[in-house]
Amino acid sequence: MTDTTTDPTTQPVDIARTYEVRTYGCQMNVHDSERLTGLLEDAGYAPAAEGSTPDVVVFNTCAVRENADNKLYGNLGHLAPTKKQHPGMQIAVGGCLAQKDRGEIVKRAPWVDVVFGTHNIGSLPALLDRARHNEQAQVEILESLEVFPSTLPTKRESAYAGWVSISVGCNNTCTFCIVPSLRGKEKDRRPGEILAEIEALVAEGALEVTLLGQNVNTYGVEFGDRLAFGKLLRSCGAIDGLERVRFTSPHPAAFTDDVLDAMAETPNVMPSLHMPLQSGSDRVLKGMRRSYRSRRFLDIIDSVRARIPDAAITTDIIVGFPGETEEDFQATLDVVREARFASAFTFQYSQRPGTPAADLPDQLPKAVVQERYVRLVALQDEISWAENRAQEGRRLDVLVAEGEGRKDDATHRLSGRAADNRLVHFAVPAHALATGDVPRPGDVATVEVTYGAPHHLVADAALTGGSYAVRRTRAGDAWQARQEAPSTPAGVGLGMPRVGPPVVTPVVQGCR
Ligand code: SF4
Repeated sequence: MTDTTTDPTTQPVDIARTYEVRTYGCQMNVHDSERLTGLLEDAGYAPAAEGSTPDVVVFNTCAVRENADNKLYGNLGHLAPTKKQHPGMQIAVGGCLAQKDRGEIVKRAPWVDVVFGTHNIGSLPALLDRARHNEQAQVEILESLEVFPSTLPTKRESAYAGWVSISVGCNNTCTFCIVPSLRGKEKDRRPGEILAEIEALVAEGALEVTLLGQNVNTYGVEFGDRLAFGKLLRSCGAIDGLERVRFTSPHPAAFTDDVLDAMAETPNVMPSLHMPLQSGSDRVLKGMRRSYRSRRFLDIIDSVRARIPDAAITTDIIVGFPGETEEDFQATLDVVREARFASAFTFQYSQRPGTPAADLPDQLPKAVVQERYVRLVALQDEISWAENRAQEGRRLDVLVAEGEGRKDDATHRLSGRAADNRLVHFAVPAHALATGDVPRPGDVATVEVTYGAPHHLVADAALTGGSYAVRRTRAGDAWQARQEAPSTPAGVGLGMPRVGPPVVTPVVQGCR
């Protein structure tokens, strides 16, 4: 977008307006933000340069986290003086909180220019234009999806891995979850479209895709093919150059043998499974309106391990659901002991307005929830650590990543993900460092694990002459080409968390 007016409240002629997108919540939101940045750049906006104040700040919000709304209004409050000092600046709020709070947002923060919902992210550039033209806030929320969001322009964050939506919305009614009321009924994308998007990603250099849906294994329900997800996995197996396929999240109630067969028989489907447990108590699962029971969940895990022995299984667990007794909680601990998850995302239950569980009696005191949470985390940490120690001595192929190792500069290691999605920090041998022959993000390093820490693996064997090999890949070439192209600024400080290209705060792994 170029400004063509000389209004002093706007930019000079022909200077692209700049933007920043701040992302909160799950992978769905992170991927939606890739679309928002793609849309904005398609409309002529440019990423805000480091140290500058963006002309447009977009909040892509999440309604799942406790206090999400307080945090949003707090952040909007911080931004109000900045906006005052920068005439022409616009603020837009989208995502799940926008879908929930709608016009309330501009009542509570009248300096917000645009509110858009989860079903109409494609309208953002038009709404920004309209708000500037009419000098009035624009609130547009649709009740259901009109255009599948994957048809919108997308600016991919990563050159070597990409998210691909296969469905949005959910037909389940878990009582703690706000998703059905904010994202609507499940809408499935046609397989041909999904595969075409994956092929395009691979042609651009990606080695890895993650298929995204609130409930991936009901994929196909909308067009009447209950076996569609397994078929989709197998079709991914036929895409030349696609080395790693992941998906999130499956629902235990809909996990069928054809999907397990497809996982086990398709070499590029990775040996990892993230499957939300939520509770190990059948009574609590019933209260949550989750239709599987703990035995069924454990049976799925047994089948996965029988067919895919190296699979790392991870989960989500909620502690302190209304009415949860100590006995119920013990049932969760029992399932955790038996399942031996590689890791778990653990959450303390909190009342979310708009969910059925928020109105249930027997909400537990915070102290009880906290105490159980600490016990659960301690147990899971012990298991994660033991499982990681069992990896010591293994040789793993690591897809080198960008931004996965916060301490890499200090430790002189690189980081990435093993096939089973474990985080690996690995040393590069001195001769490679001396010659600058280090793997790039997107390359694959074969390394030997020397230490299993509770939440990651260390692979330092290269320092003592142990296993170390690097395969330079198309994905590494694509990453390098991006670095050599005109750069995208990293981010700008406004006394706020961080600005620039989508700020990723992916706090929720599963479908909740
Ligand atoms: S928790 Fe997952 S399966 Fe349950 S309603 Fe929410 S999105 Fe759907």
